Amino acid sequence: MRVPIGILGILLGAAISTPAAGATILQCGRLVDVRAGRILSNVTVVVDGPAIAKVEQGLTTGAPGDVVVDLRGSTCMPGLIDVHVHLTGQYTESSEIEGFRLNPPDYAFRSVGFAEKTLLAGFTTVRDLGGEVSIALRNAVNRGYIKGPRIYAAGRSLATTGGHADPTNGMREDLAHHPTPEEGVINSVDDARRAVRQRYKDGADVIKITATGGVLSVASSGQNAQFTEDEIRAIVDIAKDYGFRVAAHAHGAEGLKRAVRGGVASIEHGTYLDEEGMALMKQHGTYYVPTVIAGKWVEEKSRIPGFFPEVVRKKAAEIGPLIQETFARAHKAGVKIAFGTDSGVSTHGDNGREFGYMVQAGMPALAAIRSATLDAATLLGRDDTLGTIEPGKLSDIVAVPGDPTQDIAAMTRVNFVMKNGVIYKKPAD
Ligand SMILES: [Zn+2]
Repeated sequence: MRVPIGILGILLGAAISTPAAGATILQCGRLVDVRAGRILSNVTVVVDGPAIAKVEQGLTTGAPGDVVVDLRGSTCMPGLIDVHVHLTGQYTESSEIEGFRLNPPDYAFRSVGFAEKTLLAGFTTVRDLGGEVSIALRNAVNRGYIKGPRIYAAGRSLATTGGHADPTNGMREDLAHHPTPEEGVINSVDDARRAVRQRYKDGADVIKITATGGVLSVASSGQNAQFTEDEIRAIVDIAKDYGFRVAAHAHGAEGLKRAVRGGVASIEHGTYLDEEGMALMKQHGTYYVPTVIAGKWVEEKSRIPGFFPEVVRKKAAEIGPLIQETFARAHKAGVKIAFGTDSGVSTHGDNGREFGYMVQAGMPALAAIRSATLDAATLLGRDDTLGTIEPGKLSDIVAVPGDPTQDIAAMTRVNFVMKNGVIYKKPAD
């Protein structure tokens, strides 16, 4: 299958430097066939601009004028996809006051480095689930102004009054105005429609809702249900008109089930997922995005006195330690898993550490890699162009030294990054 001409045109425009005139020949010592769940040895991938031209058994050198990249000591795999990041922020002790001090350009400049770190860690595609300037950041990457992953952006998240993504939580009265649906706070089915249509106008790619309380918001509960099922259904229905899928942040079981029944595409975190919730997710084909590393991170920080406001610290200590175990149960039960880290809570560029936590919880390495490639691409609705190394797909290819099925920590040492046929990182010659 060839990439349609229209898409090729857009992508060529997006490249930071023009790919070499000849083809690029990647000599891979090993290559992960994510579809079949196996590792092939000695495979050559021929890349012709933004599309993969050929995948051949054996190591070949191409024609004169072709560029050969020696990855014989590495394992090649499709560009990694993280379906839950926040590229325009990174939590620190002083994050609570950022809302009072920073202007959009401050978020924008800061996010440039986060985007580059993410790309160089091997993540060639991300879904950004809520951030001040994520749509503009996506556009800047696509236009080649900055280096970063391909971004599918939610823009501002949708919450209810006082809910996890209400931007005025914890503020004093005169500052806490009543945010409108356009700003992301809804309280009815009509508001829900307005908010989704505003995201379309903003240029978003996906809708994010906060179906239950969360850890880092200044509010007492980390798990209460925060939307009615009617409101969620209205969001999902209107989202379909615009080709949006809906991602739902959910810790508590009740809000999670409402979101699944309401038709969301993925549940993020899912901390208190129970048997009934897992059965519902399997029935509806809902993806689970565990973000184990975010749980580990908030648990660790909850032990540092004064790092979080007290109302947040309590929730972080309670919820953080549970996510890895929830992930283990969901994987065992056969719930569909897509890889996501919530980076921006944890440090950007550390995304690959999630693989170690997944394997530790009982998922085979190749399944974890599939969750960050083919399965993540399917959740995004982009498995026609992303997620596998096959002729006609976009040339997003990364490599790690050694063999990640022998040592999963290799996923944190990505040594080759190609996006749209452009090389951003390669092993020293
Ligand atoms: Zn998040």
